[in-house]
Amino acid sequence: MGGQVRDRIRVYAWVGGNRPGDIEASAKRAIEDGFSATKMNITEEMQVVDQMRQVDAAVERIARLRDVVGNNLDIAVDFHGRVHAPMAKVLIEAIQPYRPFFIEEPVLSEHLETMAALRRQTHIPIATGERLFSRYDFKRVLTLGAADIIQPDLSHAGGISECKRIADMAESWDVALAPHCPLGPIALASCLQVDAVCQLAFIQEQSQGIHYNRENDLTRYLMNPEVLRFDQGFVQIPQGPGLGIEIDETQVRAAAATGHRWRNPIWRHADGSLAEW
Ligand SMILES: [Mg+2]
Repeated sequence: MGGQVRDRIRVYAWVGGNRPGDIEASAKRAIEDGFSATKMNITEEMQVVDQMRQVDAAVERIARLRDVVGNNLDIAVDFHGRVHAPMAKVLIEAIQPYRPFFIEEPVLSEHLETMAALRRQTHIPIATGERLFSRYDFKRVLTLGAADIIQPDLSHAGGISECKRIADMAESWDVALAPHCPLGPIALASCLQVDAVCQLAFIQEQSQGIHYNRENDLTRYLMNPEVLRFDQGFVQIPQGPGLGIEIDETQVRAAAATGHRWRNPIWRHADGSLAEW
């Protein structure tokens, strides 16, 4: 894969959930756990053109958090595809004084032309890519100048080999890499192999404590959980054969007996129309 360029990579922790309330408590916990970066959802449902009090609520969310953590924590902000073009520019303008680390999916990645315009509007780095699935999708991001950070998901975008190609292409545009990974240990260990060899990888998402998967520990399926241990906001690149993890097949069989049926929550606007989750 071209050789390892780093020994470890910075990781970030999710704070809060879809709804406001426990953001400050989970941010304090993240600092106690040694993290120096977090990500949070900034809005709930947002209509294509919404009321100013919704904007005020978003500002309040990041303002309160910034107040609590000062400069000890970088705060990435995820619009989560919930926001459309007319409100995205208003929201970005409103929250940028609180210095977000980056803004993720200011609009859905179907709207790359809008995203490129938003990127020109703000000095805050723009991130996207969890809903893009090939080097050809990412070619459009780069040629349109839609993002400063790409976030391919190895489980969706062709795995290690395709995401390495995507990252190499992005490097020639001076665009950073932060693979999307709110998933399990195999996906995370795969991301770390790509992070290890890509010069512009700077941070790795991971699912410890993520709000929609509270029951499962990230390392539950591993015989060697210590390889994915976080230390002062970093994780070492695993050095063992393969992905460097050993799977606990008993745990996998037990989980397979239950199976899973992931469905996005269904959100609706006040008028009954469907809202993006
Ligand atoms: Mg996201």
